[in-house]
Amino acid sequence: MKLKFCGATRIVTGSCFYIDTGSFKFLVDCGAFQGDDETEKLNYEPFPFDPAQLDAVFLTHAHFDHSGRIPILVKQGFKGRIIGTQPTRDLVKVVLLDAAKIQQEEYERWQARGKVEGEIKDPSAQGSAFEQRKPLFSEQDVEEMFNLFDIYPYGSSVNINESVEFRMRDAGHILGSSIFEFWIKTLEGREKKIVFSGDLGQPGARIVKDPDLIREADYVVCEATYGNRLHKSKDETTLELLSILKQAQQEGSNVLIPSFAIERTQEILYEINMFVENKILENLEVYLDSPMASKATEIFKQYPTFYDDDARRLLEKGDDPFHFKGLTTIDSADESRRLINKKGVVIIAGSGMCTGGRIVHHIKNNIEKENTHMVFVGYQVNGTLGRKLVDGEKEVRVMGYPLQVRAKIHTLGGFSAHGDQRDLRYWLRGFGHSPEKIFIVHADEEISIGFGSNIKSELGVEVDIPKLNEEFELK
Ligand SMILES: [Zn+2]
Repeated sequence: MKLKFCGATRIVTGSCFYIDTGSFKFLVDCGAFQGDDETEKLNYEPFPFDPAQLDAVFLTHAHFDHSGRIPILVKQGFKGRIIGTQPTRDLVKVVLLDAAKIQQEEYERWQARGKVEGEIKDPSAQGSAFEQRKPLFSEQDVEEMFNLFDIYPYGSSVNINESVEFRMRDAGHILGSSIFEFWIKTLEGREKKIVFSGDLGQPGARIVKDPDLIREADYVVCEATYGNRLHKSKDETTLELLSILKQAQQEGSNVLIPSFAIERTQEILYEINMFVENKILENLEVYLDSPMASKATEIFKQYPTFYDDDARRLLEKGDDPFHFKGLTTIDSADESRRLINKKGVVIIAGSGMCTGGRIVHHIKNNIEKENTHMVFVGYQVNGTLGRKLVDGEKEVRVMGYPLQVRAKIHTLGGFSAHGDQRDLRYWLRGFGHSPEKIFIVHADEEISIGFGSNIKSELGVEVDIPKLNEEFELK
């Protein structure tokens, strides 16, 4: 049985793992690479397998870095099944349709600019700069992909054929996110169990449940995004957010929260809902300026059975955890532009890493003002505008303009959708000494290596940090 690492190797994005059992070929995730130009170029590379020969794609969750290359598979002849939970299916549709639209818009903008500046000499030439900016897929490719989707619940074992059995468990990362357990019979008739962590959430997160612990495996492929970091506690983080909001309200200054449309946004709404409902904050004006986040929030409302007890209790009391007095949802771009004149308000907008979307306009209008507060609540990939701000750069380019960063930058790691080093170690200890090998993925190189050697000495099991397209024979 072969296991090949086709993404998220020594970086955080591009999750894609290929398994060939001899009689069944499948992927776990097929996500897009995100970050600087060099990294994103990888999205245009041919797959190191034949998409038409794949039997299935098991999708751990809806995020773009786990799902963003699935429509390309479909374009290239993939006709197998895509397997995930019901919220994953609904959310990934929103994510991918939005991505298709944005790519097309950016492409058209770039073409127009390229023509003016004479950048494009021969647009049809293979490998030209033009080729490398083509949209990866269209809205129609995304629609086609949904004919292949099969939904399964958490916790039930499914025999997909005579050699492969799988079970999804709750990964506690975003709504519907899964850990995958596979029991695979090799051609020699031996059974091996492989577990893919997907992205693991923080225990105690506000809406989703805690990640399930898995007790046994021969091989584990584990994420390590925050393998070097300890988050502040949830309560401390909540208080920090409250004090920022209070201070901004007193000063009459704006708070910008770049937020991932799925989970981060709903968690922030959930926190602010608590402040408002409990009258800790009054007359707060909050604008949710992300049509994608609004759509995702509607999906969240449809699946209360996936919530943890606290969130369900709120619902039962009749409090919609994602809505409160003072919250306005912004739809049109015109309405979004009108927010320019607002003072003393909170604006939640995408994209979460400030690589595009409406947040970029708000940054342009607010970043040079000393009393602006920018609050980062999620992971910022290397090379993104968000990462530069978090790293404290004093001058950044926004929409082509060099801007001085005078705003106060806050990073609230406690809102992360990923567990920290302690959480990851706790989860891996659940396997005891059973794994023959643990593969560390989905983390920057230094973090992968550091976390890997921690785990090796703590659990006394073999650890590997795969390289891109490295293949392992699992005996
Ligand atoms: Zn994720």
